[in-house]
Amino acid sequence: MITRQFGLPVTSPGAILRREKDLGTPLGLETAEITKKGGLVPDKIIVSLIEDWLRLHGGYGFVFDGFPRTLPQGQSLDEILQRQNHPLDLAIWLDVSNETVRERIGHRLQCRSCGFTTSESAAHFADRSVCPFCDGSLARRNDDDPEVLEKRWQEYNSKTQPLADFYSTSSILHRVDGNRDRDAVFADISRLMEEKIPA
Ligand code: AMP
Repeated sequence: MITRQFGLPVTSPGAILRREKDLGTPLGLETAEITKKGGLVPDKIIVSLIEDWLRLHGGYGFVFDGFPRTLPQGQSLDEILQRQNHPLDLAIWLDVSNETVRERIGHRLQCRSCGFTTSESAAHFADRSVCPFCDGSLARRNDDDPEVLEKRWQEYNSKTQPLADFYSTSSILHRVDGNRDRDAVFADISRLMEEKIPA
């Protein structure tokens, strides 16, 4: 939604790694076991993915989804952006309760082709398991499972949570209540982005 509204390229290491796995590349195969079990992939791999992506697509603004997820990733991102003279404008921290996460992950469907995410109950097209944007097949992710979720929470608490302090020292961090419906969350994010992007 953000990409469409603001015309900014978006990337997500999780989406890149799922595509690499589907394509059977060395990177996809090397990381498949970690992602399937809910662990975080080593920082060195993720930072190099992001650096390559920024070089190709990041010239006129960008959005990251699910990056940075550790303190060293946040520090590396700062160094990369300093070298490119592109400071970060905004960091959005989506606050979601454990119940919301459990509920969403329990019903999540994702397009195997374009990554569009929906829920089994959200839309009637999900009954056909076909993506409304590209006709790709909608499927469950192999890490959307209660046991894997426990591991992902552990990783989040020990490695991602410290980033809140890292960003709270600057004025770019904004918390958004992600427990509400998609439109309400999107309206808040849009407002924040509009303040940052000159008309
Ligand atoms: P996501 O699609 O964002 O839910 O990510 C799926 C999986 O990809 C995660 O559970 C990790 O195994 C891996 N991953 C995604 N982003 C990162 C990141 N920034 N650092 C380390 N691993 C990541």
